[in-house]
Amino acid sequence: MRESYLHSLCAKGEKKMVYTFYNPKVALMGAGCVKEIGNQAKQMGGTKALIVCGVSKHGEALGKDIAALLKSSGVESRIFAGAEPNPTDTSVHEGAKIYAQDSCDMIVAVGGGSPMDCAKGIGLLAANGGKIGDYEGAGHDLKPLPMMITVNTTAGTASEMTSFAVITDTARHIKMAFVDWRITPDVAINDPELMVSMPPGLTAATGMDALTHSIEAFVSTIATPVTDAAALKSIELIKEFLPRAVKDGSDIEAREMMAYAEYLAGIAFNNASLGYVHAMAHQLGGFYNLPHGVCNAVLLPHVETFNKEAVPERFVVIAQAMGVDVSKMSRAEAAEAAIDGIKKLAAEVGIPAGLAELGAKEEDLNVLAENAMKDVCGATNPREADLAEIIGIYKSAM
Ligand code: NDP
Ligand code: MN
Repeated sequence: MRESYLHSLCAKGEKKMVYTFYNPKVALMGAGCVKEIGNQAKQMGGTKALIVCGVSKHGEALGKDIAALLKSSGVESRIFAGAEPNPTDTSVHEGAKIYAQDSCDMIVAVGGGSPMDCAKGIGLLAANGGKIGDYEGAGHDLKPLPMMITVNTTAGTASEMTSFAVITDTARHIKMAFVDWRITPDVAINDPELMVSMPPGLTAATGMDALTHSIEAFVSTIATPVTDAAALKSIELIKEFLPRAVKDGSDIEAREMMAYAEYLAGIAFNNASLGYVHAMAHQLGGFYNLPHGVCNAVLLPHVETFNKEAVPERFVVIAQAMGVDVSKMSRAEAAEAAIDGIKKLAAEVGIPAGLAELGAKEEDLNVLAENAMKDVCGATNPREADLAEIIGIYKSAM
């Protein structure tokens, strides 16, 4: 049977006819591009920036570098080195207090997804007041956020250009997801020179996060030709350049191509959303405070094994993007080859084999699955799962 393109995109049968595409206003790419940050801030009319960076030595040093670059263009700043990995509501509240006390008019985030998401939370509060938990989910009536520039230092989350933020609720030990186009940064900076310092484990985890974004967006029920093009190019680039970036962190070509790949993956999932891998990974991250990319990488082949019967034709295309010759394979064989390709790539870059190795416990799976079913990311997964099936996927990934 020949299925129409739109039909194949809408596995659940409902045909969404109107699509909106969100992107930052400006994106800077390429080695050395961070040096443009002062010009950009000045052009935007910023006078005093709150610089949000990580708590490590790496984060603090970067914060100072950014302050110097802003200063050279006449933009003052105050550094808030308070965004820990898996940023918390507490840090967001603290940052928002400093933003107001210091009369800042712009936010500049520097680091991986954690400082960038923390900065988005601070921006939400600076404009709207209250507590960050008040804005969980989507559909709030928000006032516009302060001007925001993001400087990305990992090649993974794409938070520098998305309308998503993930912040840990310290009371409930869960990760809250925030989705609103108004938290999209104005200027997104991806300078591969800032990525060479990533150790191999972080490179692998964040790179597999980007691969998860592309694959979940490609099989999403609201994928479009625009998001497909971005997702497929990103899968090709990750397959080719992630092993190189993990093997030799100073390989600047591999770093630059991974920066493009994660940005393309961002275009894809910012507009086609995600699926059960992220819905389930968020629970592991929130419950055990585990790295986001590693959780995704371990879950990815298991969720896609569950998904592949719903949209096998999409997995054939993923296999091709991963370099598999599918010409002599049946559709089912080619779809299986896509899953094998994911597993091989994960093993090649040193991702742990299962969740047990990460410290996940069988007795927690019920609660994790219940929370995963409430996560906003699951809504566009191509195959609907019930609670028992989500528990089953977690078990298969143990
Ligand atoms: P993090 O930002 O959590 O960074 C992990 C660690 O790596 C930190 O200690 C950080 O230090 C360090 N680090 C960052 N960059 C470098 C570098 N270039 N060299 C050396 N060390 C570095 O990692 P991720 O980028 O993976 O972000 C994960 C977070 O993003 C999670 O909370 C996840 O839920 C969220 N996320 C958000 C999305 C979105 O669209 N908003 C999408 C997907 C995930 P320091 O911070 O001190 O600089
Ligand atoms: Mn992610």
